[in-house]
Amino acid sequence: MFVDTAKIRIIAGTGGSGAVAFHREKYVAAGGPDGGDGGRGGNVVFKADSNMSTLMDFRYKKKYQAQDGAPGGSKKCSGKNGEDLTVRVPVGTVIRDAKSGAVIKDLSDSEPFILAHGGRGGWGNQHFATPTRQCPRFAKAGLPGEDIEITLELKLLADVGLVGFPNVGKSTLLSVVSAARPKIADYHFTTLTPNLGFVVVGDTSFVMADIPGIIEGASDGAGLGYDFLRHIDRCRLLVHVVDVSGSEARDPVSDFELINEELRAYSPELATRPQVVAANKIDALEPGSDTVAKLREHVGAKGFDIFEISAAAHIGVKELIDNVAVKLAGLPPVVVYESEYIPPAPDLGSSDDVSIIRQDRTWILEGKWLARIIGNVNFDDYESRMYFDRMLRKSGLMRRLETMGLEEGDTVSIYNLEFDYVK
Ligand code: GDP
Ligand code: MG
Repeated sequence: MFVDTAKIRIIAGTGGSGAVAFHREKYVAAGGPDGGDGGRGGNVVFKADSNMSTLMDFRYKKKYQAQDGAPGGSKKCSGKNGEDLTVRVPVGTVIRDAKSGAVIKDLSDSEPFILAHGGRGGWGNQHFATPTRQCPRFAKAGLPGEDIEITLELKLLADVGLVGFPNVGKSTLLSVVSAARPKIADYHFTTLTPNLGFVVVGDTSFVMADIPGIIEGASDGAGLGYDFLRHIDRCRLLVHVVDVSGSEARDPVSDFELINEELRAYSPELATRPQVVAANKIDALEPGSDTVAKLREHVGAKGFDIFEISAAAHIGVKELIDNVAVKLAGLPPVVVYESEYIPPAPDLGSSDDVSIIRQDRTWILEGKWLARIIGNVNFDDYESRMYFDRMLRKSGLMRRLETMGLEEGDTVSIYNLEFDYVK
């Protein structure tokens, strides 16, 4: 089975916690605090891999988690950083935020992309010693890594997409103009996976994609084909193959229109993509048949170029391909989707969620709310310091501390900031 979409969860590593430790050495009584910091949590990194062609691997494994950072040790030893987890996907995989559907990244090149960052490690107690507090018996916990649910969608990177009803000869054409060897047979739905072929024309080249045949109603999800239209979304030009032999009692003009309707229903933008029409199987025309002339008149009136070919008998194929190469030279490059993802505002918590740990005359405060406030304050600036002071008082946090026994001259420790409390 060909799998080209998946929904998975990505979790970066949590930072290791800082250590509480004290220096011990022979002949040295009561050494200082030397607890090391926790290691950073591993990132989850995405990389496009040209050896992969489906998202099959993601069908069964739904959760991808990088390693946590190791806790800090004694002797100021930092914990080891968690190892990054590299997730490989086929070239052309579009990553979206599962919730909003916004494009996070289009993996069309081999540049690795960090999708989820690991959390920072916590500080060990070595950082918390002050002249008045020589034995800090606390350290900080590491921060959680980013955690996000995403969808993966494979959109092939091809210059030219072959469209047309099943059995009209798309796979045959691709096999004739490139080294690709798609399955060719006499029944519908032969092509079950998209095939890419590399077509060389003189000193230029392009990539051509053969997708499973579109059938009527495919764009409504009625049958095979709709899912595959995503693979021609990026194509710069479409070669619309029509069977003119009359072998299946089909009318080429209405076939041509039906396919275009399908394209339009799927994406009005895709329907305006430049098209070249390949009237195929001219080797099998009934004598005196006027189907080619009718199709030529019909598509000509709409401004499309049409080429009469026989993919199987290698008639007219070169002219078609040469024309495609010339047209491509004047067209914009393959679409690469821009990121449109705005990371959600982090959960800021409230001042009620602040945790308070007391050690002797030091008060250690932690919480998302505080971390955010502190991140916005420039402590070199008087006004900013006053703002911070006001925020602490206004939130009721200082009152809470006072009722817990905070006294003038006690030390308040908030992340990397410490100050002595003055009423
Ligand atoms: P697809 O479903 O559009 O990919 O069609 P295929 O390439 O699998 O071809 C369907 C059938 O049409 C196969 O039996 C081919 O051999 C046949 N076919 C393809 N091109 C030609 C052609 O130019 N002339 C004739 N007579 N048969 C062809
Ligand atoms: Mg086919």
